[in-house]
Amino acid sequence: MKTDVLIVGAGPVGLALAGELGWRGVSCTIIEKTDGAIIQPRMDLVGVRTMEFCRRWGIADWVRASQYPRDYRQDYIWVSAVTGFEFGREPFPALNDELRPPQSPEKRERCPQDMFDPILARFVRSFPHVSLQYETELLGIEQHADGLTARVATNGGEKIIACRYVVGADGAASTVRRLLDIPMSGNPVLTYTTNAIFRCPGFNRLHDKGEFYRFIVIRPEGTFATIVAIDGRDRFRFSIVGSDEKRSYSEEEVRAAIITAFGRPFDFEIMSIMPWVRRELVADRFASGRVFIAGDAAHLTSPTGGFGMNMGIQDAVDLGWKLAAVLQGWGGTNLLQSYEVERRPVAIRNVREASGNLRRMLSPRMLKPPSQAFLPGGAGDVAREEFGRAYTEMMKREWFSIGIHLGYRYEESPIIVPDGSPEPPDEVTTYDQTARPGHRAPHAWISPDRSTLDLFGRGFVLLRFGVNPPHAKAWMQAADRLNLPLQEVEIASEEILRLYGNRLVLVRPDGHVCWRGDANPADPARIIDIVRGAE
Ligand SMILES: Cc1cc2nc3c(=O)[nH]c(=O)nc-3n(C[C@H](O)[C@H](O)[C@H](O)COP(=O)(O)OP(=O)(O)OC[C@H]3O[C@@H](n4cnc5c(N)ncnc54)[C@H](O)[C@@H]3O)c2cc1C
Repeated sequence: MKTDVLIVGAGPVGLALAGELGWRGVSCTIIEKTDGAIIQPRMDLVGVRTMEFCRRWGIADWVRASQYPRDYRQDYIWVSAVTGFEFGREPFPALNDELRPPQSPEKRERCPQDMFDPILARFVRSFPHVSLQYETELLGIEQHADGLTARVATNGGEKIIACRYVVGADGAASTVRRLLDIPMSGNPVLTYTTNAIFRCPGFNRLHDKGEFYRFIVIRPEGTFATIVAIDGRDRFRFSIVGSDEKRSYSEEEVRAAIITAFGRPFDFEIMSIMPWVRRELVADRFASGRVFIAGDAAHLTSPTGGFGMNMGIQDAVDLGWKLAAVLQGWGGTNLLQSYEVERRPVAIRNVREASGNLRRMLSPRMLKPPSQAFLPGGAGDVAREEFGRAYTEMMKREWFSIGIHLGYRYEESPIIVPDGSPEPPDEVTTYDQTARPGHRAPHAWISPDRSTLDLFGRGFVLLRFGVNPPHAKAWMQAADRLNLPLQEVEIASEEILRLYGNRLVLVRPDGHVCWRGDANPADPARIIDIVRGAE
């Protein structure tokens, strides 16, 4: 069997990469060792940047049409128990009522993994040149001068797949990372956590807190557990957050813990229990020769913040256009090396932020809530109000993280041409759009339903702003000579010119700005060589 790119692992990141490559006309094969059934959905927050990619791929409507109820409120609530005292909450509207942030044509969505993975798989299957094979496990890889061979196990026995590149999107225990002998650095154990999915139709009728997305249960000894409404209906994920001390729980103990968190016995069915280790780790390298790693194979983060899959999908988009460029012959010999230079610092930034979120969530273990906060009466109300207000304020950083999702930039990239402007602060809760090279090209509406972001994706785009913008002749000629896809787009709007900062802005296929200036450079062909990794 032969393919251009072999992707190992059909979790959300492998599927996103297969879809991205398929969308770019690249033939690839994606293999997955399981049958694809998701027993314990993990992710459910599809961040705003991921939704921008879905918009580009034409599948944003599929996400919005998922079975997740769009009229279900998304409040985060901190309680002594679900039926106990409420310390505070961060109210969030239902998906239908949430407004788009002004910086994007999309907004974050709630779409749990057992709904989102099938959407990505449907997207992948829409390309005849992409093959998705379940129950196929990677066993080994051999690198040769001009390609690789992979040994895989299927129900029918072992077979060999010949390919030009391999991408390991095979998760935390990545076989590909192990085969490449790539170590990970950081903190291997933040907590030993136990998750249980339980089913309870009518759960929200059993308590007085109303519709919720997440409860954080804080007991006198500190933060104890969380309960997440996975599907907004009858399935919930209970987590005993745990600590760095290893501890395992029997089903009876998990059952008792759920009852403690709820505050009294109630009827529910435990569907599955999954102990897991929360880590803060980033791989020391993201590539070796013709093999790359992406997603959880490359970085492991606390889920606090919902960054894991979203940054993995950014990896897929960064790597996807570069693989396509090299396979289609217009990518330079150094292009693929820029993948690690661009994505690894973003991973380090995000896993640290997620660990900070975890520390904030667990902080009542160190700074215990006053004992009165757990007693009825006026003094209790005052203590709860005081403790709850401080906790609510502190936790906002986790709930409002647009800067993490949209503000990542490729500062050290060798395929970005800096314009000499100072790097703006890397904020978490706020995000100021900028077209400074290395950053995501800003969103602005060019017509009622069309964003500047809708211009980007297939190839490079040279934006020419204002009245009589500088011509693009030399750029187009240089691109033609290389068969590099480049389109020029004129935008007259002064407002969008102000947002982009210069009269000429070059945007890459992944939607990041790679060069800008007010006049044509002396040699546009040289700029094109830099941004295609040929210098
Ligand atoms: C409780 C929890 C909640 C989370 N919530 C969010 C959230 O809201 N938003 C978010 O962005 N992230 C979230 N995350 C993180 C997110 O789930 C992961 O980052 C994401 O699933 C990683 O995707 P992946 O495709 O890289 O890896 P995985 O989802 O782990 O997929 C890897 C796949 O590779 C397959 N595989 C492994 N080895 C082989 C092999 N040798 N051959 C073939 N196939 C193989 C595996 O079977 C698996 O299907 C959460 C995590 C947890 C634990």
